[in-house]
Amino acid sequence: MSLNIWHPFTQHGLGEPIPEIARAEGAALYRADGTEIIDAISSWWVQTHGHCHPKIVAAIQEQSARLDQIIFAGWTHPPARALAEGLADFLPESLAHIFFSDSGSTAVEVALKMALGYWHNRGEARHKILVMEHSYHGDTIGAMSVGARGVFNRAYAPLLFDVGTLSFPEAGAEQRTLEELEAYCRNPDDPPAALIVEPLILGAGGMKIYTPAVLAQMAAICRAHGVLFIADEVMTGWGRTGTVFACEQAGVEPDILCMAKGLTGGVIPLAVTAASDAIYKAHFSEDRAQMFFHSSSFTANPIACAAASANLAIWRNEPVKQRIDAIIASHQAFARRLQRKANISGLRQCGTILALEIDDGAGDYMSDFGPRLLRFFRDRDILLRPLGNTIYIMPPYCITAEQLESVYRVIEEAIDHFEPS
Ligand SMILES: *Cc1c(COP(=O)(O)O)cnc(C)c1O
Repeated sequence: MSLNIWHPFTQHGLGEPIPEIARAEGAALYRADGTEIIDAISSWWVQTHGHCHPKIVAAIQEQSARLDQIIFAGWTHPPARALAEGLADFLPESLAHIFFSDSGSTAVEVALKMALGYWHNRGEARHKILVMEHSYHGDTIGAMSVGARGVFNRAYAPLLFDVGTLSFPEAGAEQRTLEELEAYCRNPDDPPAALIVEPLILGAGGMKIYTPAVLAQMAAICRAHGVLFIADEVMTGWGRTGTVFACEQAGVEPDILCMAKGLTGGVIPLAVTAASDAIYKAHFSEDRAQMFFHSSSFTANPIACAAASANLAIWRNEPVKQRIDAIIASHQAFARRLQRKANISGLRQCGTILALEIDDGAGDYMSDFGPRLLRFFRDRDILLRPLGNTIYIMPPYCITAEQLESVYRVIEEAIDHFEPS
């Protein structure tokens, strides 16, 4: 007898098989019988250097035998200090304060609470959070509130708090988004506390891309009106868009930056919410009522911090940038190959992420096209998980040219297979 395992984002009623993976190495996953599956989405956008990187494995083994867990409220430990020191080389100087948590969603909750706490402690009534259409910031109630509404959160909609939504800055319509932001910022009756955005690319919302120029302009408008600018780099951080953080491409230094997924190389959960001096100072006082009221049991777990420091060491000592650039060049060549296909649209690339839509006529997330595509890739031993009819590749940086070519071939096969007759 065993209890039933309830999987995330899985409709068990459809009876789809749930393949089991026994081990992994680099960009390859292996079934118990030795079947190899190429991990073309970095195990849901988290793995950056590939599975079971020896340096991260060693750091975890070593740290877990030395100090496994310790309360972080009022206590500290060497792996947290080492990580804080290491992160200073990767973040702008203006983000001098880091707060640990356990996932992207909690990093976002922390960011929202920091922003609201900032205004509260300054004695200014600002509660409105601005968001971008199609965004995704996580699945907890606060994170869902600042994300797009839809079938994913319909059951909880009455509990989600109200936000101000900016149109997605489609190419050619960027001005509209900026004007909407300006209008929200100028409203004296309900001045915004903060704007939260996924910089350059909206992940779960469908791999939607906008320009660094718009990102820079949004940040500038926020700055001009004292509205806090929160960058959710949970997915974009750690090299995904071609630079360590996406904000770098726009020369933007946010007031608050969230990172999670790739922070430990995508091996164990850890998140950081980095904040500016002003945010920290608003909570710094002799009054205990003004402290930052947030914690979770595993805040700054030493094993997770050691894994994150190993990730930083890999960035320092291995040709990570060259690996990323090779993927970018390879995707560009593949995109040229795809230009001959008639039944695709929206071919786009942001760093190591390549995305396109297969035109099937139906196209929304709930049509059965997504599951059919999923099955198609699963049957061919490629881990790809389309968002509706949007196919995207987001590989670990260690993926070989041969593995990448296998992924491309299967995508071409899918495009031909699903051609409307
Ligand atoms: C994945 C993701 C999150 C949520 O992270 P979890 O670790 O799954 O809670 C938040 N924001 C963005 C942009 C994400 O892609």
